[in-house]
Amino acid sequence: MTATRTPGLPFIEDGVLVSTNPATGAEAGRLPVADAAAVAATVQRARAAVEWWGSLGFDGRKVRLLRWRALLAQRVEELAALTHDEGGKPVADAIVEAVAGIEHLDWAARNAKRVLGPRKTRTRLLVAEHVGHLEYQPYGVVGVIGPWNYPILTPLGPISGALATGNAIVFKPSEYTPAVGQWLVDTFAEVVPEQPVLQIVHGLGDVGAALCRSGVDKLAFTGSTATAKKVMAACAETLTPVVIEAGGKDALIVDADADIPAAAEAAVWGAMTNAGQTCIGIERAYVVAPVYDAFVASVVEKAGKLRLGEEIGPITMPGQIEVIRRHIDDALARGGKAVLGGAEAVQPPNVAPTVLVDVPEDSSAVREETFGPTLTITKVADAEEAVHKANAVPYGLGGAVFGKANAVRIARRLHAGMVAVNSTLAFVGMGSLPFGGVGDSGFGRIHGEDGLREFARAKAVTVRRAPSLLPAMTFERTPAQVARIVKALKLLYGRRP
Ligand code: NDP
Repeated sequence: MTATRTPGLPFIEDGVLVSTNPATGAEAGRLPVADAAAVAATVQRARAAVEWWGSLGFDGRKVRLLRWRALLAQRVEELAALTHDEGGKPVADAIVEAVAGIEHLDWAARNAKRVLGPRKTRTRLLVAEHVGHLEYQPYGVVGVIGPWNYPILTPLGPISGALATGNAIVFKPSEYTPAVGQWLVDTFAEVVPEQPVLQIVHGLGDVGAALCRSGVDKLAFTGSTATAKKVMAACAETLTPVVIEAGGKDALIVDADADIPAAAEAAVWGAMTNAGQTCIGIERAYVVAPVYDAFVASVVEKAGKLRLGEEIGPITMPGQIEVIRRHIDDALARGGKAVLGGAEAVQPPNVAPTVLVDVPEDSSAVREETFGPTLTITKVADAEEAVHKANAVPYGLGGAVFGKANAVRIARRLHAGMVAVNSTLAFVGMGSLPFGGVGDSGFGRIHGEDGLREFARAKAVTVRRAPSLLPAMTFERTPAQVARIVKALKLLYGRRP
């Protein structure tokens, strides 16, 4: 590596993508870069592999996926160390991330047959001579495009759901974390050596764009809202369906009857874990007046103890530091106060924990995704005002509520896909719950039952079991039979409720 390179910034040298650690600049991975032809060839190989993968059935796939799960669990320290070396993430955070990813793999493997397998549907009187059969069939080849901030968990969610469903995968990891992506794919090949069911292509954004246009049957994208729009536009050319997991600006609401030390502890974790580079990171807190001072004091006390290089790692993507700096500067220039950190907290490649109060609601620190270890705290009169303000941004990914009597009611009113009550981020680690956002945060779901169905097409089959009593679908029906159909219709559906 030459001395002029920016630590953390990946580069391409002789057709090889080189990733580097954002704190030290040390080389972390060297992966061959694909071009559009290589992407197309990879998708072709996946098409052959998907036949074999499908032939294993739910039970055969479950065994393979649980073997992969066991391997990931056994080698979690190795995975966490690589994630630390490549993205700078503290090892403990990488382990927590891997735990969540492995949970989703386990859940998808164990539940795919129940959720997607063939079943009979309840019959309907007007077509009582037919039995309805429903099953969910895989799309075929699914493209997965992932970000760098959670390079284990974010691909494992859609990959687990799509594999358990019976799809083959072509995965394009972020250019910042290709080695972690390659490690995941290599370990899968150890337990499924027969066919290239899970493959990877490396490169910059153009390789992601090539994957969108490669003829995959579905594309799962996790990344920024801006790139999501480009992905949708590319997929629109071939009518390729997409699931979009995009950015967020999640809010925490603290009600008057909340446990304040617990709320502060969770707020600091939710805002600062992975140095705030978390799509479901808490970036705003709305706190009712009676508990505001106590909450701010507790957050400042707890966040002030976090150490750079220990709990708080470097900012992985060098370019993000300018966004964080701009948000802090804008907040301070417009009347906000830093009760912890502030402008001087930005010391590339690090940003120290920063807590901002009195920040105007229309400032970038409140409205745009910051992706750094920052938190704005705003005093509100009551939970009503908190909900109104929390919902006033275009994003709607996750959120959190601390309180007792009304906490769940408040959670249900948040314009977001997931909300944790009396914790932060908890929903991401629960295999049975769906994950995904609304508005600028995207659409579609990964994880849980919805996350399995996202990668399957519903297939409906009817089987006649008797002659028709009310033969509607034939030119051989008689006027008397049509009259009977009308009579039956009025009897069944004609009554006003
Ligand atoms: P980006 O949108 O920059 O990149 C995401 C992926 O898309 C990368 O693999 C990138 O490749 C690829 N890509 C870039 N351009 C194109 C293109 N034109 N066509 C297809 N693919 C392309 O996001 P980041 O990697 O910076 O990730 C951070 C963002 O992800 C944040 O906004 C965060 O909130 C969001 N996120 C959302 C999550 C969710 O579940 N909702 C979870 C985690 C993160 P390359 O890196 O090579 O440019």
